[in-house]
Amino acid sequence: MPTALNLVNVTLEYPDGDSTLKALDNVNLKVDAGQFLSLVGPSGSGKSSLLAVAATLVRPTSGLVIIDGADATALKPAQSDVLRRESVGIVFQQPNLLASLTAVEQLIISDHLRGKSLKTAKGKALELLDVVGLSTSANKRPHQLSGGQRQRVNIARALMGDPKVLLVDEPTAALDHERSETIVCLLRKVTDDFTVATIMVTHDTEFVPITDAVATMRDGKLSAMERIPA
Ligand code: ADP
Ligand code: MG
Repeated sequence: MPTALNLVNVTLEYPDGDSTLKALDNVNLKVDAGQFLSLVGPSGSGKSSLLAVAATLVRPTSGLVIIDGADATALKPAQSDVLRRESVGIVFQQPNLLASLTAVEQLIISDHLRGKSLKTAKGKALELLDVVGLSTSANKRPHQLSGGQRQRVNIARALMGDPKVLLVDEPTAALDHERSETIVCLLRKVTDDFTVATIMVTHDTEFVPITDAVATMRDGKLSAMERIPA
């Protein structure tokens, strides 16, 4: 499978008093289309920073961020916004759904930004809600959904743009064990069905075997990726 995401010698520094803090220290990482990677490591080790850089939300101090063959660090901000909309799906811990919109509307509004017609967007939104097991909840608003269901809406929304790369930060942090497992299994399924390159930051090492490989962050440095035996 082709490489969907390639981080090359990525360093991210933040000002820290008189010196700088290296949130990412010369990170190299390749994730192929259809590959599901777990990213683990202690709090403060740089996991969310890695996702933010891979999502082109934060520009690294140095290094390359290549998404679907395009180097995001060489693009002007407006162009990298387009690359993100077209190629990256983002799922954060808190679903950040809009309180007044139904599940299907949450998805449609994200596609509206891509300039798709309402009819196309609605058809696709309903299909994706079906994929995540929410076909009967399309017209429910966030307060009518459980935490696990809201996270599934969040995942469906991230898939609206047919991303090549799916970045997921601690998706199960607010969920009980059974719902957490459902979410990780769903991420496994969408990684396979949509041949997307998925990185999931997780504390729950028990779910790592559902993924293809694991890498560990420590003080901004990324370990070599370890394959999970099938
Ligand atoms: P993790 O997700 O593994 O807990 P983070 O990527 O959030 O780690 O943070 C890595 C390091 O970078 C931490 O020391 C954190 O305090 C620092 N950091 C993260 N974001 C910022 C920021 N916007 N400004 C300054 N320092 C930051
Ligand atoms: Mg984090």
